[in-house]
Amino acid sequence: MNESIKECMQKGGVVGNGGAGFPAYAKLAEGADTLLINASECEPLLETDYVLMREYMDRMLLGAELVMEAAGIPKTLLCLKAHNAERLGIREGEELAPHIFVKELPDVYPIGDEIGMIYQATGRVVRPGNLPITKGIIVYNVETLYNISFAVKEQKPVTEKWLTIGGAVEKTLVLRVPIGMRLRDLFRLYHIEVPEGYSVIDGGPSMGKVIHYQTATVQKTTKGLLILPDYIPAVAGKGGDMKTQISRASSMCCQCTRCTDMCPRNLLGYPLYPHKMVRTATSVVELTPEMILTANLCCGCGVCETAACCQNISPRNVILEYKTILAKNRMKYVGNEDVFVDEYRDSRLIPISRWKSLLGVAPYDREAEYISTPVTARVVELGLSQHIGAPSVPCVSVGDTVKVGDMVAGAGNGLSVPTYASISGRVTHVDEKKIVVEA
Ligand code: SF4
Ligand code: SF4
Repeated sequence: MNESIKECMQKGGVVGNGGAGFPAYAKLAEGADTLLINASECEPLLETDYVLMREYMDRMLLGAELVMEAAGIPKTLLCLKAHNAERLGIREGEELAPHIFVKELPDVYPIGDEIGMIYQATGRVVRPGNLPITKGIIVYNVETLYNISFAVKEQKPVTEKWLTIGGAVEKTLVLRVPIGMRLRDLFRLYHIEVPEGYSVIDGGPSMGKVIHYQTATVQKTTKGLLILPDYIPAVAGKGGDMKTQISRASSMCCQCTRCTDMCPRNLLGYPLYPHKMVRTATSVVELTPEMILTANLCCGCGVCETAACCQNISPRNVILEYKTILAKNRMKYVGNEDVFVDEYRDSRLIPISRWKSLLGVAPYDREAEYISTPVTARVVELGLSQHIGAPSVPCVSVGDTVKVGDMVAGAGNGLSVPTYASISGRVTHVDEKKIVVEA
């Protein structure tokens, strides 16, 4: 292992750019034979990764080469949808840089789920609850590799975020925004209104979360901000209290098993049975964490809720509730069993055009305009827990002057990364959760 590359990745504050923000350095491990670049961007309306590759493919490939060098990985596959490969002018099997090849993925949902993508690209199935490295694979996202290239080659830490603003807006935009910028300032700058009866989704329409944009800020994990009407399934499915959902499930679930038949994780052979989870939720038997342990295997794709159930039940929400219980009890499903892919898997994945219609987002699907000038902010609120692991620890005080790229909080103990100023200015607030810098 090349420890100096690994150290630069940590020092640079590089984390996974979607999902939970896993520190990138901690994914590096001996024993991998393949690096997969997750450029699948399977969430509708998001164009962040595509635009980043179009503008900075070389930078992203440099990041991949550094990871290959650090962990001694002989081969990389750039995994992206065939139509994006066409837009980028590259094709299946093409060698983009030494030992880095194009791997086209079908235009189906949810192809970007790490476990599903690994199977699609390599034919290997990671055992339930295990990490990709157990099958000799490491996966990084496009923007993570882009950030790694700067952190290692120029010692430039992560201070900005690439993101898409889309949905019910005049134009879909891809922007580079200072981390910590307040969304209300960002929206004001681009004259973006959030009308009554509309919500802001952080992430894609399938797996993103409804957020309160008046108080939210841009995080290292913010990939998209979508303004969407509350009545479309993509937004309506995210609401509702659990009590109502359980009582609806207990009166309406006919145990047809369609949610299980279409679950992409179940189709890979994982012992995840959403219909049984719904049954457990509605039974009178007292729940134990052991009874719901396989909930850990759910990737939260929402297929069971949006495409499978005709009774308006959300197995996903039930399972997400179970995952919270498991997290509180520090319980995790780890299986030693080999699993076998369902022979009908390929035919049960959902064409992306149908998925967009099911979510109600097809009218908002359009090509993004890239704004190459980075956005400027007057104030940033730098969260100290934008990553999995220990929060960063402040190393500045109120009144200090900082420049872009100065460290404002060091890495905490154990798994952690530092946090850096994303604008130049004066520190006006410090506590254990955030640091505010004003220009
Ligand atoms: S698809 Fe809906 S009705 Fe059928 S088993 Fe699943 S939750 Fe119940
Ligand atoms: S959200 Fe539903 S369909 Fe998707 S993995 Fe979880 S249980 Fe399966």
